[in-house]
Amino acid sequence: MDIRDGFLSAIGDTPLIRLSWPSAETGCTILGKAEFLNPGGSVKDRAALALVRDGEARGLLTPGGTIVEGTAGNTGIGLTLVGNALGYRTLIVMPETQSQEKKDTLRMCGADLRLVPAKPFKDPGNYVHVSRRLAEETPGAFWANQFDNVANREGHRRTTGPEILRQAGGRLDAFTCAVGTGGTLAGVALALKAHDPAIRVVLADPHGSGLHAWITEGTPRAEGSSITEGIGQGRVTANLEGAPIDDALRISDAQALDVLFNLVMHDGLVLGGSAGINVAAAMRVARALGPGHTVATILCDGGARYQSKLYNATFLKNHDLPLPPWMAAGT
Ligand code: PMP
Repeated sequence: MDIRDGFLSAIGDTPLIRLSWPSAETGCTILGKAEFLNPGGSVKDRAALALVRDGEARGLLTPGGTIVEGTAGNTGIGLTLVGNALGYRTLIVMPETQSQEKKDTLRMCGADLRLVPAKPFKDPGNYVHVSRRLAEETPGAFWANQFDNVANREGHRRTTGPEILRQAGGRLDAFTCAVGTGGTLAGVALALKAHDPAIRVVLADPHGSGLHAWITEGTPRAEGSSITEGIGQGRVTANLEGAPIDDALRISDAQALDVLFNLVMHDGLVLGGSAGINVAAAMRVARALGPGHTVATILCDGGARYQSKLYNATFLKNHDLPLPPWMAAGT
């Protein structure tokens, strides 16, 4: 018998996939951790479960309680489904700029969804602050606080990192990962470095994020913008503090899209924007290391969540971005 016990037990133990096109292009082995295969559809199922279990253990989340969180969408989806499985309600605050697919998914799952205008973190109207205030006002509420609650990265240190090491047979030269909260990157980095400090950890940063400057110059500084969702960060979150990161790379939307479209055509993988940033960074690190090396990264979520953006010819044209070759024909 091989039976997982409900939604919660179906989280994690995702496949580690050798990516064919990226490996052939670089002469290296590029490995993608298939987090889009989690039952809620993204890497954030792991953070959701870790945050909820931590809230329960600390007595902050009790029967009949409500989970409250500010999220780009995926954490909200994970929290809502974990909440459904455990009998909690969920109140989710999300910037209105995020994809329609994620809003629809949250409503479909039963979240109480509150959309707010996109505002910088220093503005009191920013979705993270709105979610904290709503939690303070709601009786029985638990504010998950994914950015600064280190239960998030601890979940990845205990599960994602060791899974990658075991699946790769303990042999890995480098790991690349983009950052939203930093939970995935920091947690996996801590696990990899504890196993072998020589494994190179590289932060993959989209334009518009301040973390490339944080790693290379010492202070976060953002420039430009990106259509990717769920990643990019202007400050050093508690989850990022002290994380063993060796270097950072900036990846443009055009580079990420090129990788995504090639993954569709050559690997049969339809993935979200952050996975494109991650694999593009893995390929750049692999080229720098030279043929024969092994680089792992995270395939955070699937492309269906961004059909109206990353895989929509009108949206891409409006943003002066490249179209998938199979859509460009005849346009
Ligand atoms: N990719 C996607 C699609 C996400 O939704 C998120 C989470 N916001 C991330 C990457 C970043 O993960 P983390 O919060 O662990 O840094």
